[in-house]
Amino acid sequence: MSSVPQAAPPPPRGLLSSVLVVEDSAVQRQHVVDLLQSLQFASVLEASNGLEALHVLDGLAAGLSISLLITDIDMPVMDGIELIGQLGKRYRVDNLIVMSARDPRLLETVESMDAADFAPRLLGTLPKPVTLAGLQRLLERAKFRPADAAAAGATPAACLEDIRAALDSGQFVPYFQPKVSLATGQLKGVEALARWRHPDRGLLGPHHFIARIEGSPLMARFTLAMVEQSLKHLVQWLRSMPSLTLSVNLTADDLADQGFIERLTELVNRHGVAPSSLTWEVTETMVLRSAAMLSLARLGLKGYGLSMDDYGIGYSSMQTLSRSPFTELKIDRVFVDGASERANRRAILISSLDMGRRLGVATVGEGVETEADWHLLRELGCDTAQGYLIAKPMQGEELLGWVRSSRARLKALVAGPGAA
Ligand code: C2E
Ligand code: CA
Ligand code: CA
Repeated sequence: MSSVPQAAPPPPRGLLSSVLVVEDSAVQRQHVVDLLQSLQFASVLEASNGLEALHVLDGLAAGLSISLLITDIDMPVMDGIELIGQLGKRYRVDNLIVMSARDPRLLETVESMDAADFAPRLLGTLPKPVTLAGLQRLLERAKFRPADAAAAGATPAACLEDIRAALDSGQFVPYFQPKVSLATGQLKGVEALARWRHPDRGLLGPHHFIARIEGSPLMARFTLAMVEQSLKHLVQWLRSMPSLTLSVNLTADDLADQGFIERLTELVNRHGVAPSSLTWEVTETMVLRSAAMLSLARLGLKGYGLSMDDYGIGYSSMQTLSRSPFTELKIDRVFVDGASERANRRAILISSLDMGRRLGVATVGEGVETEADWHLLRELGCDTAQGYLIAKPMQGEELLGWVRSSRARLKALVAGPGAA
């Protein structure tokens, strides 16, 4: 295992400083760590599955980021595919190497994930056992993009104290992104997406703060603040659009928090909104935790909609879905964006929609950016679409104006090309 040649060329230092190795076999993991150390990587972190890796990332000091993540695919608890899916939206990881090329289709899936915003750059894949030469060859690739690596560390992560102060002064606000019917072009609902109106840095998206809040005592408070502000808008909208639904993202912390469900339902009742007007969006990773499952069952019983967000990434999805009270399947942007051109994305899209139909739940395609993807979703029988083609997230005050001004455009979209 430790028979590593001494004459290794100098490492791409500075560019790749902190590395995280995720591998369930302790022997294989140590082997990769040995190789990295022979290449003089000083800080090598380890995790034995995806969930552990997320904990490691959550525990990183503010301002620190992982420059390289080397992960196995097949691991218990949370596999490499799901880990990669989680990475892009919550953490800054610059480069990615995937080990174990067992099934080429899995690797294709990994490659297609590469397209998502903030996703780490896939340097390549390595068969196991990993060799020094193989590793060096992939590391060479990282050197060609020094600009990205410099940019990656450039935004300091907010600290919890800043976040607490921002919560106190109401700087976190929901923006709303429309979800429209693919059959009629009509507005069906909106998803609340958090933004930070930062006094110095302008409007900040969730990747600047959500990961920091998760795991902290501020989580439930943050979510409830988001729900409360969204409910105020919803009450107004329901007057002219009584069947509109509002979707809000929940986290595993929320669902594990004793008393959260009570506070949430109290808030909804206080605004006089029916549970059927609300949908809680949760991800599969969260559902895998049993505490979350209990809370979800309670929400389902109360008549709320439950949406499985980012569907298509984890392969335990089907089992989880069939056992849980979900009413909606939200197919991850990774499998929607460009699906009209890429066969592997389309395959996952088709099977996800098929699954939704079989389970009798509503389906949403997210990340619809092109007319081609819109028409494909429509052909495949998806119910609703969300994405920049329809609208970017907007302030609550803008929604009614948007509905009026985009009616004709959405009708034309439904009619399809050629229908003038
Ligand atoms: P998500 O729940 O998957 O939300 C969809 C994300 O995709 C949003 O990013 C949305 O702006 C973006 N998006 C929508 N359509 C398109 C498109 O056509 N192209 C592209 N490139 N992107 C599109 P956003 O607002 O940056 O949110 C990122 C993530 O942060 C969300 O992913 C969600 O996981 C989390 N998040 C946002 N708001 C909240 C919140 O209030 N609470 C919690 N717990 N998480 C939140
Ligand atoms: Ca969501
Ligand atoms: Ca999503």
